[in-house]
Amino acid sequence: MKAEHYVGGVFRSDGPAFPLIAPADGTELGEVPEATREVVDDAVTAARAALAGPWGRTSTEERAAALRRIADGVQARFEEFVDAEVADTGKPRELAATIDVPRAVGNFRAYADLLYGRPERAYTTQVPGWSGGSGQALNYSVRRPLGVVAVISPWNLPLLLLTWKVAPALAAGNAVVAKPSEETPSTATLLARVIAEAGLPDGVFNLVHGHGAGAAGEFLTAHPGVDAIAFTGESATGAAIMRNAADHVTPVSFELGGKNPALVFADADLDAAVEGTVRSSFTHSGQICLCTERVYVERPLYEEFVERLGARARALTGYGPMISAEHRDKVLSYYRLAREEGATVVAGGGTPEFGDARDGGYHVEPTVLTGLPETARTVREEIFGPVCHVAPFDTEDEALRLANDSDYGLAATVWTRDVSRAHRVAPRVEAGIVWVNCWNLRDLRTPFGGVKASGIGREGGEYSLDFFSEPVNVCIQI
Ligand code: NAD
Repeated sequence: MKAEHYVGGVFRSDGPAFPLIAPADGTELGEVPEATREVVDDAVTAARAALAGPWGRTSTEERAAALRRIADGVQARFEEFVDAEVADTGKPRELAATIDVPRAVGNFRAYADLLYGRPERAYTTQVPGWSGGSGQALNYSVRRPLGVVAVISPWNLPLLLLTWKVAPALAAGNAVVAKPSEETPSTATLLARVIAEAGLPDGVFNLVHGHGAGAAGEFLTAHPGVDAIAFTGESATGAAIMRNAADHVTPVSFELGGKNPALVFADADLDAAVEGTVRSSFTHSGQICLCTERVYVERPLYEEFVERLGARARALTGYGPMISAEHRDKVLSYYRLAREEGATVVAGGGTPEFGDARDGGYHVEPTVLTGLPETARTVREEIFGPVCHVAPFDTEDEALRLANDSDYGLAATVWTRDVSRAHRVAPRVEAGIVWVNCWNLRDLRTPFGGVKASGIGREGGEYSLDFFSEPVNVCIQI
């Protein structure tokens, strides 16, 4: 798979190239062109021109049909997408085939469905006699697109998170310039092929590759021609983007990092809680923003929970690598730090040896830690690897205090069989998403996002359409 820019309907690969490394075994997969400031300029110009053309006058039905053609195009190339995602990320094929690619198709279908039958997304409100005795007025508001939208996405769920923003941005009638992570350019390039084949006008979707700070990502997010920025990635990167966005007062939608807690109450189904935590901590080797890194267990269950979670972590096989040597080294530095901070390593804590090609890759062991104080950096900072720290609690209030004692607030999981407790606890957790007796169960119409350092705004369903458009109120005096 050759990574290429897609600008104004043309595939090109200008700019200096950098190597793309397979994290599964450290081999070189190919080269990626680094978009220069000129390439980014061209993309923003092409997007602006597209808005002035037929795309700017499409009906919601036409846009819904375009989204369905894209969904069908991804589905038709399903295996190609899976191959490319597995090569770039090293993730198990099963994950790409059951989560990443189907969800990309689902993202386009979901927004096509939302548009259907709602021609202008308009509504009218009558406000009689409000204007100081000057008669009655009819007020109605219409939503219009923001214009040129920059989409910046990370490497962990490359196609899923890119399409999560591209689909609603297009649904709302915008033109898009997307920059995927420099670590995972391949499925984005394939998506550009699908969009070209789906017959969207040139410039409606543009793709540029390259790095973030001081490079393509920054050129794009600081560009005066960009009307909105939708970003998923680290909180520190969000802060950097926001500083650039401030110059042009560009609106942002941010999905950022997390340090997600799980609360396991003594009345929980222990089997379900252990298996759920294995999934929530170790899926995609912990490289999902929603993954659990802090587990709090009510004391009567604590010892058994730790023992069983540790045994399950030690027994895991077939897991994928960290995305890069650099990220592997970062995760391993936290494993070392945890020991220095006084942790007991219940499972893992190092690098596995497979005795095959994977030893050239960037794998780390699924790791379970205990015994750290809440002030430890290991408990406070996002590690983004297959690791969780487990600590006991005694009361519901204490559990909530521990869960909420974090700079982050993305997702949380509550394990209990007490329905009243579930309803009492869930809304008090400072997080954008709280799962009860499950994890990562997603309805694409629900609000998705984080509080505190985990994000700004919500995406999903109407929430995304609202971000990617703005209401214009029309007032007619009667
Ligand atoms: P990252 O912030 O390093 O990079 C994300 C993207 O931003 C990449 O495309 C990168 O090139 C670009 N970028 C980096 N610096 C930039 C700058 N100064 N200006 C403009 N663009 C810049 O994140 P990552 O390492 O790719 O992804 C992992 C992080 O993403 C974790 O913190 C994780 O929690 C978070 N994440 C959050 C969600 C969510 O929905 N909240 C989902 C997935 C990942």
